[in-house]
Amino acid sequence: MTTPKSSSIRTRFAPSPTGALHGGTIRTTVFAWLIAKQGQGKFLLRIEDTDQKREVAGAVQNIMDSLRWLGLGWDEGPDKGGEYAPYTQSERLDIYKQWAQKLYESGKAYADPYSTEELQTLRETAQAAKKPFLYRDYRPENPPAWDGSQPLRIRLEPKSYTWHDGVMGDITMGPEMIDDFIIIKSDGFPTYNFCHIIDDYLMKISHVTRSQEFLSSIPKFLAAHEVMGIPSPINLTVPPVLDETGKRKLSKRLGAKPILAYRELGYLPSAMLNFLATIGWNDGTEQEIFSIDELIEKFKIERIQKSGGIFDEQRLLWLNGAHIRRLPLDELYAHVGDFWPAEANGANDDYKKQVLSLVHERLKFFAELPDLTRFFFAEPTVQNIVENIGANKQLRKLDVAERDRLMSATQTTLADSDFSQADLELKLRALVDALEVKPGVLFSLIRVVITGSNVAPGLFETLATLGKETSLKRLSVTLAE
Ligand code: GLU
Repeated sequence: MTTPKSSSIRTRFAPSPTGALHGGTIRTTVFAWLIAKQGQGKFLLRIEDTDQKREVAGAVQNIMDSLRWLGLGWDEGPDKGGEYAPYTQSERLDIYKQWAQKLYESGKAYADPYSTEELQTLRETAQAAKKPFLYRDYRPENPPAWDGSQPLRIRLEPKSYTWHDGVMGDITMGPEMIDDFIIIKSDGFPTYNFCHIIDDYLMKISHVTRSQEFLSSIPKFLAAHEVMGIPSPINLTVPPVLDETGKRKLSKRLGAKPILAYRELGYLPSAMLNFLATIGWNDGTEQEIFSIDELIEKFKIERIQKSGGIFDEQRLLWLNGAHIRRLPLDELYAHVGDFWPAEANGANDDYKKQVLSLVHERLKFFAELPDLTRFFFAEPTVQNIVENIGANKQLRKLDVAERDRLMSATQTTLADSDFSQADLELKLRALVDALEVKPGVLFSLIRVVITGSNVAPGLFETLATLGKETSLKRLSVTLAE
């Protein structure tokens, strides 16, 4: 099956507002969004909030913020409206009631007369007989009139279903998967099972992307479509997103981070989108780095894998670094906005841009920026310098006299430099020869003294950026023993 090129493509994200979105939930949505974009169709956001006990305050906002951050814009949704509004299920209760009433009046739905205790007993009896519990085995012959206080169940004919899942292929499941499920609960609220069928139909959804936990429910959804006399959308059951063990589904309960936590750490949305789209999908080549446009162009439903993919933080980090390196400096500068160390307050844009250019290659996420650049804005502490000398194999072997000799010679030499990179390099290389010292030793010592760190951009660029006055001042530091 190729992705049809037609504006009749309509996909949706239909989250229940039960908490912050994490990588597992949102990856399924990335696929739905790509299918819509590629087919020049529409992508909808629908809030499925009929189970109000499970609702978490702020979850709808988190869902929208997460989608917006990733650039997964929706064409129709609760805040935007659209032809099939409203897009929040709790505002569509009348619609579900009308459908329920029609099904009830035509005998396709009936009132469930059992009390919770009675149902429990029936369940236990089935269990004792080592049989799966199926409500339809106890379906009342003469159900009572439905007065709204009993659950309303849809009457489904038990039979086998065979259907084509766009990802999993042809699937057959037996009649044991079909049971009369509740469409309206005793509290008057409709169930997810019922509402999503109506909404997907009314909202003209063409493809439903869903995670694997829903696969075994599809036969009963198909049976309900039949009873309701409406066509089923194309089902795409996407592989699970696994945590780093590769064995468990990524889940909030097992510590999956909300997707927006990655924004706080300074991940690029383009990298996150690239990462999510390539969990359980590839384009059949070795390519791993995709821009958003490339994803839209190259995505193919038939290349979605059947087996799970891992949310591998190391790969995410690597991809983020790769996306950062692809950004022109000015764009990167706009992105890093709030991530500068406090010490950079008041520094001018040109200087900050110059600093950023020096760490551009090595930056993997923006929250690293303070540690990588602080010394460009503030003198390193003596403690930092001493600690880093101690941590450096070559430098901790130097005795104090040798260290002083190298530092004062450096000061003298650099006092004559114009501090261009070329001149710094020329003079310091000549100094290595004159002092008969290994370049690694002299350059590491200068680096630690001026930056307070063993990890810093190239020495000559760093010195040139800090400038003559600051560099010489730092080189004159007295290191307490
Ligand atoms: N509201 C359901 C959930 O969040 C959506 C499932 C579906 O996509 O149909 O679990």
